[in-house]
Amino acid sequence: MTVFLDFDGVICDSVLEAYVSSWIAWHRVICAEQPAAVPLVERRLFYSYRPFIRNGQDFVLLQRLIGQGVTISSQQQFDRILDQVGEDEMQRYRRAIYSVREELLRHDRDGWLRRNRIYPHVRDELDWLAQRDRCYILSTKKAAYISEILAADAVEWPPQRILSTEGRAKLSIIGELLSADGQQSAAFVEDQPDHFPSSNQRLDFDLKCYLVRWGYVQQQWLDNPRYSTIAENQFGPLMRRLAD
Ligand SMILES: [Mg+2]
Repeated sequence: MTVFLDFDGVICDSVLEAYVSSWIAWHRVICAEQPAAVPLVERRLFYSYRPFIRNGQDFVLLQRLIGQGVTISSQQQFDRILDQVGEDEMQRYRRAIYSVREELLRHDRDGWLRRNRIYPHVRDELDWLAQRDRCYILSTKKAAYISEILAADAVEWPPQRILSTEGRAKLSIIGELLSADGQQSAAFVEDQPDHFPSSNQRLDFDLKCYLVRWGYVQQQWLDNPRYSTIAENQFGPLMRRLAD
């Protein structure tokens, strides 16, 4: 079976990297000012809002909302704010965070890499998965960053099996890849259920969806008939069953 693994929140805990990069992007690049101190409470809030995030630019918006004292209580509320902010402004945030990442990788490469931690129970399986021809990483993150993070942990994952959405829906990419490979079924492992098909969505392939319990997931996401959930100790056995 073809397996698609999300990166952030499934393979890698990159919330610290996202916090630092988006903080610099919002304060230094967008607002052109730098607060003298970072209140710990802001960082805690950022971590607690992590489940609402779908891509890099969302982190920058999150910095802005926390700075403005906006309380976020649901995905719907966050998405309404995204709509109000608009695509042009979000693209500005995207350029800002990616320029910061480029700069950090150039000037503080080791520090940047250290802020991305591969989950140990996933790391145990990665060398084996890297050799499975039909196991892909599918992420909203740029493929080059994923390659860097994996290489820093000595994972030799073929670059052609790291897919970046570049703004497209993950399900479209899965569908195209399956039809190009003449395959009918896939497994999709995520920490953000919005990437899964909605209950009335029809696909022309079989898709088994798994929500990981170790990522930045909300409690109410854990009980939903649209997908299964997997705990840390289930990841290895599940991969052996699906990807072998
Ligand atoms: Mg994720």
